[in-house]
Amino acid sequence: MEENKTVAEEPRKLNFLEEIIEKDLAEGKCQSIMTRFPPEPNGYLHLGHAKSICLNFGLAEKYGGKTNLRYDDTNPTKEDTEYVDSIKEDIKWLGFQWDKELYASDYFDQLYEWAEDMIKRGLAYVDDESQEEIRLHRGTVDTPGTPSPYRDRTPEENLRLFREMKAGKYPEGSKVLRAKIDMAHPNMMFRDPLMYRIKFASHHRTGDKWCIYPMYDFTHGQCDSIEHITHSICTLEFDVHRPLYDWYIETLGIYPSHQYEFARLNLTYTLMSKRKLLELVQKGLVSGWDDPRMPTLCGVRRRGYTPEALRMFCDKIGVSKRDQLMDIQLLEWCVRQDLNARSNRYMVVQDPVKVTITNYPEDKVEWFDCPLNPADPDGAKRKVPFSRTLWIERADFMEDAPKKFFRLRPDGEVRLKYTYIIKCNEVVKDAEGNVVELKCTYDPTTHPTEGEWRSVKGTIHWVSDAHAKKIEIRDYDRLFTLADMSQVPEDKDYKDFLNPESLVVKEGLAEPALLNDASCIAVQFERTGYYVLDRDSKPEKAVFNKTTSLKDSYKPE
Ligand code: ATP
Ligand code: MG
Repeated sequence: MEENKTVAEEPRKLNFLEEIIEKDLAEGKCQSIMTRFPPEPNGYLHLGHAKSICLNFGLAEKYGGKTNLRYDDTNPTKEDTEYVDSIKEDIKWLGFQWDKELYASDYFDQLYEWAEDMIKRGLAYVDDESQEEIRLHRGTVDTPGTPSPYRDRTPEENLRLFREMKAGKYPEGSKVLRAKIDMAHPNMMFRDPLMYRIKFASHHRTGDKWCIYPMYDFTHGQCDSIEHITHSICTLEFDVHRPLYDWYIETLGIYPSHQYEFARLNLTYTLMSKRKLLELVQKGLVSGWDDPRMPTLCGVRRRGYTPEALRMFCDKIGVSKRDQLMDIQLLEWCVRQDLNARSNRYMVVQDPVKVTITNYPEDKVEWFDCPLNPADPDGAKRKVPFSRTLWIERADFMEDAPKKFFRLRPDGEVRLKYTYIIKCNEVVKDAEGNVVELKCTYDPTTHPTEGEWRSVKGTIHWVSDAHAKKIEIRDYDRLFTLADMSQVPEDKDYKDFLNPESLVVKEGLAEPALLNDASCIAVQFERTGYYVLDRDSKPEKAVFNKTTSLKDSYKPE
């Protein structure tokens, strides 16, 4: 709790985007700010997108501006409404609300008009070269490119050909529309970039209306401009596109949006490429986009991560201009911070050994009122039953225990959390020498509220046998074994680094109140970790996903 406060209240320096925005507002360059989040609906959002969302929506929130959700849907073959819907769900889950829901495809007519306008002005031409020829003729950074033989077509001819392209007269790959800029330009982006390509594909929104689709560079800046986006924030790899972004806006003489780049988020032991995540799903290497091991927002949600924790994480990592590999443990730390403060507690035994309280009556049951969250001792309670036969964690008993072992040992005492102190009198073993039962006695004078307080070094969790509920526990570990997944050696594939132990299924014995938990967030299994109810649960057996362990040696800087 204490630590949580410092995180939230730590005054932080302005990041470079906030500095730019404050300057722009102070100088009156804009009256208020407008940002956008521009996902391509070709997959589910991941943690990297969460950073972009927190940034775009967070800046608008901070400076009283607005954020549009704009789907960048210019590639009909990879896009799908399933993705469109999941993206909206994930943004809302993170706690943000967009101003307008828009699609690049809403602007196809306008973009087409602008393309014709450029053709008429002699600034664009139809090229019949193949993709391969275009690539070869582009030159290199040190050598100028070779102009296409079709480069000097007249505007009239270009207009006719472009209209025929649009009418579906030419097959895919036979023609493209290119901007006529400079084949010797030092910036390769300016060597007559592609504006349109032919694609006979049904689009998730425009259906079969179009068989030519605009390229990213001829789309993004114009969309920003139409929406009067003041600060168009994207990841570093787009910095080489910025001059072209500006060029189209200037050439068309439209609202001057500006692009700013920040470093994309990379996390240890994590891959964040929709293409690769899709491959994991398609090959059945994970159970789906929302497999709790996936770095997708639906995956971490199913894992029990909270939007509060993700926002705390995004705030803590800040914004940088240099590529960063963040430690996944920082994210897990944020999850723990949030859940520690808010989650309900329950006792669950995962590797049970039987305890019989020989001096406790056979039929007696006592129900103890226990706080759901120790941070709120006067808050809601749960009732925990105590009886003669109990289960404790095998690891909480040790026969030849070292001095510092403060849990149960032969002739030793321990407090059963929320109840009495017990003493171990006899260890029962099977033929192989495994401990199968501990015969103990309880000290009735140590009742937690009515008894005298007597302290003992160790306190352990336990579950009453007659009341225990069997649950399935899915224990998750990292999906990959390599810390820096950008360092996969050339002779290997990222799939070679899948962790074979990333999912271990166990059984657990839970106190009954666990199954009536109404909190809708992950709960704490006392002394073990945070776990969240999974949708695979059946009336006869609840399934819990491990969100994260309770403790870790990790400390954020
Ligand atoms: P991927 O490579 O995973 O497919 P993408 O960049 O192609 O990601 P888009 O749907 O185009 O995915 O991204 C939407 C927005 O999210 C873009 O502005 C993009 O820059 C941003 N984004 C994507 N990945 C990250 C990341 N790892 N860190 C920060 N922002 C990201
Ligand atoms: Mg993309």
